[in-house]
Amino acid sequence: MENGVYSENCITDFPPITYPTQVSLITGTYTGDFRKEPSHGIPLLNWMDRDVAPPILREYASKNLQIYKINEEMGNNCRTILEMVGDGNKASIAQFINRGSDYIFPERKTKLTMFYLFLKYFPSVKRRMIRSNSVIAQKLIEVFEKPKKFFDNSEAPIASSIWFMSSDLLMHKYGYDSYLYKLNLLHIDKVIGVLIENLERLGYLNETAIAITSDHGNYKANKIGNLNNFFKKNSLTNYHPLKNLRGNMDLAYYASVGFFYFKGINNSNIKNSWTRPTLKELENYGSKRINILEKLFKINGSHLMYYRDETNIYNKGTIHLKRKIKDTGKIITGKIEYEGIGKEYKTRYISEDNNTDIFNFTNDTMASRLLDNKFHSTQEWLEATYHLDYTMHPDLIPRHLKNPRSADIILCNDETIKFGIHHGKQKSNNLYDHDIGLRKCMAVPLIIGGSLEIPKKEIPYCKITDIVPTLLKLLGKRPHESVMGESLL
Ligand SMILES: [Zn+2]
Repeated sequence: MENGVYSENCITDFPPITYPTQVSLITGTYTGDFRKEPSHGIPLLNWMDRDVAPPILREYASKNLQIYKINEEMGNNCRTILEMVGDGNKASIAQFINRGSDYIFPERKTKLTMFYLFLKYFPSVKRRMIRSNSVIAQKLIEVFEKPKKFFDNSEAPIASSIWFMSSDLLMHKYGYDSYLYKLNLLHIDKVIGVLIENLERLGYLNETAIAITSDHGNYKANKIGNLNNFFKKNSLTNYHPLKNLRGNMDLAYYASVGFFYFKGINNSNIKNSWTRPTLKELENYGSKRINILEKLFKINGSHLMYYRDETNIYNKGTIHLKRKIKDTGKIITGKIEYEGIGKEYKTRYISEDNNTDIFNFTNDTMASRLLDNKFHSTQEWLEATYHLDYTMHPDLIPRHLKNPRSADIILCNDETIKFGIHHGKQKSNNLYDHDIGLRKCMAVPLIIGGSLEIPKKEIPYCKITDIVPTLLKLLGKRPHESVMGESLL
């Protein structure tokens, strides 16, 4: 850190969940309408694909290897850093997002998934976690030491990506404040030291840049909630592809941010197809004729709601915002408008309340300046909100909702309660999570060190998508047109 570039305020993506954040990190772009604009196609860890009939439920952390679809589902309007660095050997160690790599560890798909599940479901033994970190670093050292064993020539890799997944798994299970979690971070630091020592011994360190970051931070909820009564009372049933395709909604993912998909009234004659509901349908939904846009605020702890306007297209549209004020229960409204794509993309954030606003930017001198009824760029939002909760939300929320795979309604809780729901099923009972837009989940550290060519400087704030263009610049390469970040050098 002291010999390179570093920042304590590298702002990750929304939602700050492993996917999409890692895809944004590795491609240097954000999600969006991946069919039509520079962006990647991964909105969430779990999502529903309504483009096919019957709809498909995606769950990247499932045991049936769905994670392997991620490289294809990112789409063709983005590139991984390994695809952008050009000719040369490229290695990907324990990282599922590995398009463009010549060597992938573990070699067989099932092995990587087994490795992941092994850690996830049996992380109780300290030795096991230590071993997983060591295996990852040792494998990369071996790739440098004996390239001929892994590639079809004897050149060392020009770019490699590695993922230490142990920290996330231990954080969920034992907490970020646990002894085991802290011990594991120290151990990751130690194996990075071993990696650096070996790169030096092999003579590669002087021409190497090493970027170290995290995909998200974390928080702790007070309790786990249950929504069974809420669903029953409102005649909402979760879609089930194996049980006669029943259900009128899909609650794809809900820790403290709920991603709700609803079944619109279908006028097409394609059997079992789902359409996106109109706002009118959502206001008068199901057999009980409930107003979803109000009713969801009855869920314990919920206070923010985001949904798209029906007229939205990929390069122009409006996102509707609501906030329930905790003490009074009063609902205030606002909106985000977006226009343009790629580097021309800008957003305007409007409060429809005179005293306050949805993300509470009004009280901050820097952020309140952007509530000026004008369109602002990604960089402007970063500069004005990196130090706040709901960091960059006026920029990131529309990007997320432009992806046709994202939900109809996003419901955000305060940090008091979480639900642990995956496609309607209560799955997780861990109080530790990271999906809400609070600063402690969105701001992560970034270190780029290694070669002495890297300037020494502290960057006050940056974004997760800046890493790819910075590394490419050090290599003398130009980023693909889809890259939304900027070089930090
Ligand atoms: Zn996690």
